[in-house]
Amino acid sequence: MDTTARADDPAQRSAADVAARVVRPEIRALTAYPVAKAAGMIKLDAMESPFGLSEPLRAKLAAALAAVPVNRYPDGGADAVKAALRDAFAIPAELGVLVGNGSDELIQIITSALARPGAVMLAPEPSFVMYARNALYTGMRFVGVPLNEDFSIDVRAMLDAIARSQPTLVYLAYPNNPTGNLFDAADVERIVRASPGLAVVDEAYHAFADATFMTRIAQFANLLVLRTVSKIGMAGIRLGYAIADPAWIAELDKVRQPYNLNALTQAAAPVLLRERETIATWAATLKSERARLEAAIAQLPGVTVFPTRTNFVLARVPDAPRWFDALARAGLLVKNLHGWHPLLAHCLRITVGSPAENDALLAALKAIR
Ligand code: PMP
Repeated sequence: MDTTARADDPAQRSAADVAARVVRPEIRALTAYPVAKAAGMIKLDAMESPFGLSEPLRAKLAAALAAVPVNRYPDGGADAVKAALRDAFAIPAELGVLVGNGSDELIQIITSALARPGAVMLAPEPSFVMYARNALYTGMRFVGVPLNEDFSIDVRAMLDAIARSQPTLVYLAYPNNPTGNLFDAADVERIVRASPGLAVVDEAYHAFADATFMTRIAQFANLLVLRTVSKIGMAGIRLGYAIADPAWIAELDKVRQPYNLNALTQAAAPVLLRERETIATWAATLKSERARLEAAIAQLPGVTVFPTRTNFVLARVPDAPRWFDALARAGLLVKNLHGWHPLLAHCLRITVGSPAENDALLAALKAIR
């Protein structure tokens, strides 16, 4: 039998041929979001919490999950989760809440609700890579405005770019990933005020930042605050939330999949979010460990540590690829940002781990020659 694919015979075309013809060129040019394998390693690459659940809390969680009727669709409105979030994070009653399968899904929902041919998404660079990726998925034009060398916002350049490109959507990570710093609140405010469309202030790291725009939403007609429970010990349940004027939430809710938050997450979230003291203790421990890491890493010859208000430390080292490999050989997985953006040359992003993990990290760093 002739197995050669023939263009004139639909039955004989290969899947790759057809995909190459119909999948958009900009999607074909992408690679899927890389998630490093970390089996057996100390995982300090993805800003997860190092803390597992106590035995009593595991038992409570197990009981809640066992009671879930998995034969039924979940509550489409995820009411219990929203109530638990409002309670745990003091979300003002007059604001609306939208929940998603991680804030990643909310970025997708927000972007697809606002995208239209020719519309612009604007964000500083370097910032969270999913903003630009979602612009690409939805056909928005992405305008990236470089940060200053110290990773502060170049306000003049941002305001100029906003005036020129009239963005429908602006994303500001507050604090910023992957740089770790908290932008000046007055700079953020000027950008929100100058933005003709929606401004999203992404507070994924709010638990470590001691700063928020949530309490200021009523002062701006175009402000949405995005958050997640991923960095505070619950990355596995995939739960993000958006807080905004109910008028914004009502529009975005139309783009949400009917049952976007699965039943197991809806059962788990209220159980976990009730543990306010545990969550606060985790965050406090990570903040003090962060200070210890910042000080110790800054002592290493040739290394610069940048100010951070997150649960990770950004450090410029003499040779990031070599240091990344040396850490990996010592069983530690961090993120090598060298090559991501010129401002990130030779930078490693290191998630703050447990005290013992941080000890192992510091020992491995000191051993690099
Ligand atoms: N926003 C920022 C700034 C982030 O760093 C991350 C996680 N890397 C996210 C959003 C997405 O978090 P999740 O989907 O886990 O809620």
